[in-house]
Amino acid sequence: MNRPQQLCVVIPAHNECANVAAMVDRLGAVLDPLGLDWSILFVDDGSRDGTSEAVRFQNARDGRVRGLTLSRNFGKEAAMAAGLRQAADADADAVVLMDADLQHPPEVLPAFVAAWRAGAEVVQGHRRPAPGESPRRRAASEAFYAVFRRLSQMPLEAGAVDFVLLDRKAVEALNRMGERTRFTKGLFHWIGFRTEVVPFDVAARTAGQSTFTPRKLLAFAADGIIAFSSLPLRIWSGVGALISGGAILYAIYFALRTLIRGADVPGFPSLIVSITFLSGIQLLSLGVIGEYLSRIYEETKARPLYLIREAIGIARTPVETRQDAA
Ligand code: UDP
Ligand code: MG
Repeated sequence: MNRPQQLCVVIPAHNECANVAAMVDRLGAVLDPLGLDWSILFVDDGSRDGTSEAVRFQNARDGRVRGLTLSRNFGKEAAMAAGLRQAADADADAVVLMDADLQHPPEVLPAFVAAWRAGAEVVQGHRRPAPGESPRRRAASEAFYAVFRRLSQMPLEAGAVDFVLLDRKAVEALNRMGERTRFTKGLFHWIGFRTEVVPFDVAARTAGQSTFTPRKLLAFAADGIIAFSSLPLRIWSGVGALISGGAILYAIYFALRTLIRGADVPGFPSLIVSITFLSGIQLLSLGVIGEYLSRIYEETKARPLYLIREAIGIARTPVETRQDAA
């Protein structure tokens, strides 16, 4: 009970070499007065700019700065998973997840820790709308979250970002999720627990550039919806029934009409329209099934989420383990 609380700040970093030192300085300044036993864990997600070397340099200056280097770029979700696993192995009482580019200001952390000490088990950073943000990206993200909320019944909002403090219990819960297609933001909600929201203003990226292209973001959005809702899969039986029902009514109408008035102009247009319309629907529904199927295929291969090449400042290079393998 007398042991100071341990806080581990997990930072996924992909080509963030220029930000490592600033992150460490600003985090240190903020964390020192909190009376915690803190550490920082950079997860180098296959950077090609010497991010790991920067972490090793920081580790030599301060042993509380540590790192994991993944064997290649596995994506931010996998990097976060690697960091959460390592933090739990290192016995952290709480874990903070944040970006490496200082867009998530370390100065907000005292508020996170205060909420945690007051009993919150998940403290979710909530970004206020930024003035300089591209309106197109903002509108797209609002639209995505509106659809996501309807389909998944999860109260996830556009401002919710991967800037959170997680109590040990929440970290353990996340570590038990073996899924490959990860939408961590959704998982924060899925696990439940007492959640507190702390608003913050996003800062501009200090160095380097965002590696999320519109295409990557679109794929991420699809992953998010598919991971949390099976409605896109189920909706087609309803649509199919509706269309077939309509087609039957139409056929009855035509039969009656022919009986009463005799055959008039043969109905080529309606024929063509219905054939193309239905084949369109069929292809679409096949596509939706394919989307789910490909994710099921990914999951059944049960490959590890990430692989670690080396650990910096950690006694033994950890091995990725899957809970469900046991
Ligand atoms: N990131 C990562 N792996 C990737 C892409 C990004 O670990 O494949 C990290 C990146 O280093 C940063 C965070 O994820 O710490 C957010 O990335 P970025 O700033 O590019 O995204 P944005 O702020 O545009 O959402
Ligand atoms: Mg960023």
